[in-house]
Amino acid sequence: MKQEKDIKLIISQKLKDKLKECVNKARPNEACGFIFGTIEEIKKNGEFEYHYLAQKFYCMESSEKSTVSFLISDFERFNEVFMEASQQFKLQLISIFHSHPGGAYPSGVDHDNMKFLDRCGINAFKSQIWTIMDASNFELKGFIYLNNELLQIDILMVS
Ligand SMILES: [Zn+2]
Repeated sequence: MKQEKDIKLIISQKLKDKLKECVNKARPNEACGFIFGTIEEIKKNGEFEYHYLAQKFYCMESSEKSTVSFLISDFERFNEVFMEASQQFKLQLISIFHSHPGGAYPSGVDHDNMKFLDRCGINAFKSQIWTIMDASNFELKGFIYLNNELLQIDILMVS
């Protein structure tokens, strides 16, 4: 898969542990949740890099199979979380998280959902990093749908 080098997700071990917890809680179903944080534009050698700094994670309890069906079926709950993160903590939505029983690459359905959210007209859902955790080994990968293309991004772990 093509890599997007200019976008990086920066995540602490502590936050990654929360993702793991969420995955374990949802077993055997797929976990889903939302990561809030800030996006920093960094100029490096005349080019821009975008650092998505993960700061707060909300694990969502969902009987739905995907994060997108969750968003649609329980928009009210999403909205509560969104308002708290944005008003109380001044954070923006930076990543839509879910898990797979094995593997951390987007499925065909994920790909369709990424396209759908990119085009749905709600700004908060645009330019989101999709984080997927492999529930078998907690490997985490990040993806973004940008200019009609599915791209993988780097995740930097910080302590
Ligand atoms: Zn998926």
